[in-house]
Amino acid sequence: MKIDLLSLTLPELESEITALGYPKFRAKQIFEWMYRGANFSEMSNLPLQMRSQLAEKTQINVPIIAKKLVSALDGTVKYLFELADGNYIESVLMRYKYGLTICISSQVGCRMGCKFCASTIDGKVRDLLPSELLGQIIAAAKDSGERISHVVMMGIGEPLDNYDNVIRFLKLVNMPNGLGISYRSISLSTCGVVPKIAALAEEELPITLSISLHSADDRARSEIMPVNNAYGVAELLCACNSYFEKTGRRISFEYTLIEGKNDSKAEAERLASVLKKYMKCPIHVNLIPLNPVAERDFKTVDRANAAKFAETLNRHGVNATVRRTLGPDINASCGQLRRQSTK
Ligand code: SAH
Repeated sequence: MKIDLLSLTLPELESEITALGYPKFRAKQIFEWMYRGANFSEMSNLPLQMRSQLAEKTQINVPIIAKKLVSALDGTVKYLFELADGNYIESVLMRYKYGLTICISSQVGCRMGCKFCASTIDGKVRDLLPSELLGQIIAAAKDSGERISHVVMMGIGEPLDNYDNVIRFLKLVNMPNGLGISYRSISLSTCGVVPKIAALAEEELPITLSISLHSADDRARSEIMPVNNAYGVAELLCACNSYFEKTGRRISFEYTLIEGKNDSKAEAERLASVLKKYMKCPIHVNLIPLNPVAERDFKTVDRANAAKFAETLNRHGVNATVRRTLGPDINASCGQLRRQSTK
C-alpha cells in the first residue's frame, strides 16, 4: 500500500516524510505542490531522486479528468474523473453570483437504493478517500484557473455512509494552509442516516445539513427511499432539530418532484403540516424537478407545477423555492456519465 499523502494534515505529512528519511522542510514543499494539483514530476524544487522515490512509495490521488462537458447555456462544467484504480466519479462546477461552487461525489456508486437515482443502480463499489474528496476540488480548481469557494456534497454516493473519510475531508478542506474553505460554505446532503446525523452534530462543524426528504409520508417515502424503513420521517426530523441545537445552522430540505408520486397539492399540504409540527428551527425547502433516469420509470414535473407546489408551501408558512436548473444541456445533475463510461 502506497502512503496516501493528500489525506494527511501538514504535521502528519511531516512525520511521514521524515520517516522516509527526508528533512522536515520537504513536507511543506510537497504540501504546497499537492494543493496546486501538481504531480511528483512537476515538483521542481525537490531533488529528482526524491521525486521518483515518492512516486514509488506514495500517492496523491488527485483524480484525472477523463471527460469534461461544458454547458453552452450557463458555463456549468461536468467532470468525469478517473481514480487511480480506474473507477470513475463525477463532479460539477457551477458559477453563482457569490463564487464557484463544486458538487463532489463521496463514493463510487451508492448502496442506499433510492428508486429514482442513477448512482445506486449497481450498488456501491467503494468509499472515496479523503484525498479523493479533496482531489476533486483541486483538479477542478486547477482546470478552471480560479478559486472554488463553495462545496456541496451532493454528487454520487451517501456521504454519511463514508463517515470517517468525510469528517477528515471536512477538516482538511477547511485548513487555512490548504484550501481554506469555510465550513459555512459547505453543504452535506444525506438521504437520512439518523445515527450519523447525530454523530455529525457532535463534531460541531458549522456546515449546512441538507436532507433529501422527497416525501413527508412514511409509506410513500419508504417506497422510493429504502433508508426510510430504518429511520422514519419523525425520527429524521428530530435528528435535524438536534443538529440545529448543536450547530446553530438552519436545515435545508431537498424535495425532488416526481409526477404522480409526491407532487400533488395534498402532498404539499402534508409536507407543510409535518414540517411545521416537527421542525423547531429555521428551514428551507428546495424543490427539484426530477431529472429522469433512463433505467427508471419515473416522470418529472413541469416548471409551472413545481411553482404551484412552492406556492402551497409558502402559503402555509414554509419557506420554499424551485431550484434553478444549471447545465441542462450537459445532463449535469446525476450519475449517468459514470454509468455510460463504466459500461
Ligand atoms: N446521498 C446523498 C447525496 C447525493 S444525492 C443524498 O441522498 O442526499 C443529491 C440529491 O439529488 C439528493 O437529494 C437526491 O435525492 C437527488 N437526486 C438523486 N437522483 C435524482 C434525480 N434523478 N433527479 C433529481 N434529483 C435526484
